[in-house]
Amino acid sequence: PPRVVIIGAGIVGVNVADELIKRGWTNITVVEQGPLDMPGGSTSHAPGLVFQTTPSKTMSLFAKYTIEKLLSIVEDGQSCFNQVGGLEIATTPERLEELKRKRGFASSWGIDARVITPDECVKLYPHLNKQLLYGGLHIPTDGLALAARSVQILIERTRKSGTRYLGNTAVTGIKQTGGRVTGVETSNGVIEADIVIACAGLWSVEVGAMVGLSIPLQPMAHQYAKTTPVPASAGRNPLPNGANLPILRHQDQDLYYREHGDQYGIGFYGHRPMPVVAASLGPTAKKVTEHNMPSRLEFTPKDFEPAWKLSQEILPVLKESEIADGFNGIMSFTPDGGPLVGQAPNLDNFYVAEGVWVTHSGGVARALAQLLVNGKSEIDLTDCELSRFEDIQLTPSYVNETCSQQFVEVYDIIHPLQPKESPRNVRVTPFHARHKELGAVFLETGGWERPHWYESNAKLLDEMPAKFKPAERDPWAAKFYSPIVAAEAWRTRTAAAMFDTTAFRRLEIAGPGAVDLLDGLTTGNVSRKPGVATYSLLLDQEGGVRSEMTISRVLDDLFLLGVNGPTDFTFFSREARKQNKLGDGKFVQVRDITGGTCGIGLWGPNAHKILSAVSADDFSDSALPHLHLKLAHIAGLPAKVIRMSYVGQPGWEIVTSAENGLKLWDSLWKAGQAHGVIAGGRSALASMRLEAGFPSFGSDLTPEHDPYESGLEFLLHPGKEGYLGHAALQGRSKDAVSKRLRRLVINDGRSVVLGKEPVFHKGTAVGYVTSSGVGYEIGKPLAYTYLPISLGEGTVVEIEYFGRRISATVVPEPVHPMKSDEGRV
Ligand code: FAD
Repeated sequence: PPRVVIIGAGIVGVNVADELIKRGWTNITVVEQGPLDMPGGSTSHAPGLVFQTTPSKTMSLFAKYTIEKLLSIVEDGQSCFNQVGGLEIATTPERLEELKRKRGFASSWGIDARVITPDECVKLYPHLNKQLLYGGLHIPTDGLALAARSVQILIERTRKSGTRYLGNTAVTGIKQTGGRVTGVETSNGVIEADIVIACAGLWSVEVGAMVGLSIPLQPMAHQYAKTTPVPASAGRNPLPNGANLPILRHQDQDLYYREHGDQYGIGFYGHRPMPVVAASLGPTAKKVTEHNMPSRLEFTPKDFEPAWKLSQEILPVLKESEIADGFNGIMSFTPDGGPLVGQAPNLDNFYVAEGVWVTHSGGVARALAQLLVNGKSEIDLTDCELSRFEDIQLTPSYVNETCSQQFVEVYDIIHPLQPKESPRNVRVTPFHARHKELGAVFLETGGWERPHWYESNAKLLDEMPAKFKPAERDPWAAKFYSPIVAAEAWRTRTAAAMFDTTAFRRLEIAGPGAVDLLDGLTTGNVSRKPGVATYSLLLDQEGGVRSEMTISRVLDDLFLLGVNGPTDFTFFSREARKQNKLGDGKFVQVRDITGGTCGIGLWGPNAHKILSAVSADDFSDSALPHLHLKLAHIAGLPAKVIRMSYVGQPGWEIVTSAENGLKLWDSLWKAGQAHGVIAGGRSALASMRLEAGFPSFGSDLTPEHDPYESGLEFLLHPGKEGYLGHAALQGRSKDAVSKRLRRLVINDGRSVVLGKEPVFHKGTAVGYVTSSGVGYEIGKPLAYTYLPISLGEGTVVEIEYFGRRISATVVPEPVHPMKSDEGRV
C-alpha cells in the first residue's frame, strides 16, 4: 500500500487513518503538533452535539454514518455515542414551519423525525418553558459524541494495525516535485510519503500555504459556557459529563444546550463574528491543558450576556445557577458552510478533509478513504469538493466576509434561493448595465450577478394569455420569485428572448491531443469534423454521472466546452497534465475562458429573424443544423454561434469575447424590437429547462446515478468503447435499473415545491424531489425525482411540503432538447 502521511490527530485525521486501515492501507503515519493525549485542536474541547438533519443529503448521510461508527467504538462496555436524541424547538410560527420542512428532509434522507406539540416537548424535556413554545422536532437517533474519547480509542486501535503516531511534531513544510507531493518536513525531520492528507482543522490555511494552495476556510471563535450545578438537575446523571435529556437547539436565539452531569453546557452563535488567524496562536505546548489549549481563547463575558438572559427564559431552571466558566472556542467555517474534501486542484496526491464538524467526521473520513482506495466515495461529494470554488472565492477577503456571514446565519431559516448579502457585484457580465436599465432582479452564484427576472417585463403580465398565468404561490414558494417569470417564459415560447449565459462555464481545450483527451473521457463522439457540437456525459470509473456538457469542435485541434463548474475545469486540467506527461506529441491545453468571453442565448420562434437582421451568415436549418457551430459575424463582431437550446425552443447560444459583449447585446436587442424580443432571466430559463425535459447537473444528475438511471442513455455514443466509465456500464441497460429519474406533474396544478422534499408512495418514503418548477406552458408545477423502477408512468405519489401531502403523477419524458431543439413539452 502507498505510504500515507496524515497531518493532524483530531477526530478527522484519526478517523481517516482508521477508514484507510479498514480498506487495507496500512502504511500510515499521523503527524500531530500537539501531544497525542490532548492535541489541543477543536476536538479537544468539542461538546459533541450531533444533529443529523440538514437540507444536504450528503451532510445528513455523513452524520448518520458518524453515529453508526461512534456507536460501534466500544470500550469497557461503553460506546462513544450517547444517543439521548435531539430536540429542536420553535418559539416562532416561522420556525415551526421550518421544522416541518426539516422533518421533510429527515424523511428524504431516511432519518426518523417527528414534529411535536409544546406539551410533547415539555414531556420530553421538562425544563423547557412551555409558554414560549410553538412546537419542536424530535429526532430520537441524534445525541452526543464522546469525541475526545473516540479519538483515543481509535489511536490505540489503529496503532495496533501498524499506524505510527508522531506527537509533538509539527509539519513545517511539504515536499513536492513535478506536481506531486513526496513527503512532509517536520520539526523532527523529513517523512517520505506517496500521499499526504491534511486534516489540520483550524490550521488548514497555514498547511495549504505550504503547497501554494488557497484553502477557503476561516477559523472563528464561538462561545461555549458551563453553568454551576443546576438544582433541578441534581442526581439526573451519575457521570460528571453524563446526559440523558435530548440535546437541545433553540435556533430562534442562536443557542444550543447539553447536560454535563448536573451542569448545563450552553453554546451561542448570536455574538459578533470573531475571526481568528491560526498562525497567531503560536506553537502548541508540549503538554496541553484547558488553560493553554490553542483552540480555546479567553471567554469574553460581555458577548455572552444576551445568551445567559435568553437561556434563563427558555430554561427557567437555570435561574438557580450561574455561569461557572466559559471559553471562546475556535472552529472552522467555509464560504458555503460545507466541508472541504478531496484532492488539491494544483497538485497530485495531496488531499484535504477540513472544515469538518464532529457530526460529520466519520462520514467524511469514510468518503475520503473510499475516494483514495476505490476512486469514488459512495456518498456524493460534489458539494464538498475542495475544487468547487471559483478563484474569486479563494481570496482572503472573500473567505473572511462569507464565513463571518455563515457564522451569523448558522441557525437562520435560509430559503433555497436566498442570495448572500455581501460581497455582491463581484463579477458582472458585459451586459450588466443593460440588465440594470431593464430592472433586473439579481441573485448571486459563484460571485456572478445573474438576472433572475426583469421588472421591465411586468408590462407583459397584462398581455399574457390566461393559459400562462401562474397560480398564486404560498408565501415560502413566493420568495425570490415574481409572476413576471411566467411572462418571460411566455414570450420566449411565442416570440424570442435573450438570455445572458455568460456565467455558464466555458472551457477551451486545444492542441494536437485535444481529440484524444475528450474522446477518452466523454461518452459522445467528439471526433467528428469541425463545426459539430456534441452533448456528452463525463462519467466516473464506476459509470456515475460526473458531469454533462456540450463539446463543440471549433477547429481540428480546438474545442469549446460548456461545462458545469470549477470541478470540471480541475478534472480536465488534471487529465491533461497526465496526458502531457506521456510526451507522445499529443499535447493538450485546458483553459477556462469564462471570464474573458460572454454568451447570449437567443431562443424562440422569432430568433432566426432577429439573427438574420444583424448578420449576413446563413443560419438556416440546412446551413447550421441542430448541435452545430459556426464561426460567424454578428453585427460586425466575430462570434461562435452554436445551434442549441436549453429551453425547448429553436435558437442559438452566441459566444464572443467579453469586450464585444455590449455591442452584441445592443445589436440583437435593437434588431429584436420588431420581433417582440425581451430579456429573459434565470428563473424563466430554469422553468423552461424543466418543461423541456432537461435535467440539471448537481440536483437531478449526480455521480450516484448512471446514465440509464438518469434517463440519458441516448448520450452513450453507440459503438464507442474505452472511455472513462465505459467498462463499468457493461451489462447495464435502461431495462435493468432499479431506479429511474422520473418526471412528476403536481395534480392540483398549483402547489409549487422547491426541491429535496420527500416523495411517498402508499405511505412509504420512496425518493425525494431533485428539482422542481412550474411548466408555464403546460400550466402545472413539475418535479424530478428518482423512483423505484416499479413506479412507472401513471403512478400517483405524494410529495410532503411543510407537513402537507401533495399529490403528483409520474408522466412521460418530453423529447430531450438536445435531441431536437424543437423538442416541446
Ligand atoms: P482538530 O480537532 O482541530 O484537529 C486538527 C489537528 O491538526 C490538531 O490537533 C492540530 O494540532 C493538528 N495540526 C494542525 N496543523 C498541524 C501541523 N502543521 N503539524 C501537525 N499537526 C497539525 N462540532 C460538532 O459536530 N458538534 C458540536 O457540538 C460542536 N461544538 C463545538 C463547540 C465549540 C466551542 C467549538 C469551537 C467547536 C465545536 N464543534 C462542534 C466543531 C468541532 O469541534 C470541530 O469541527 C472538529 O473537532 C474538527 O475536527 P478536526 O479533526 O478537523 O480538527
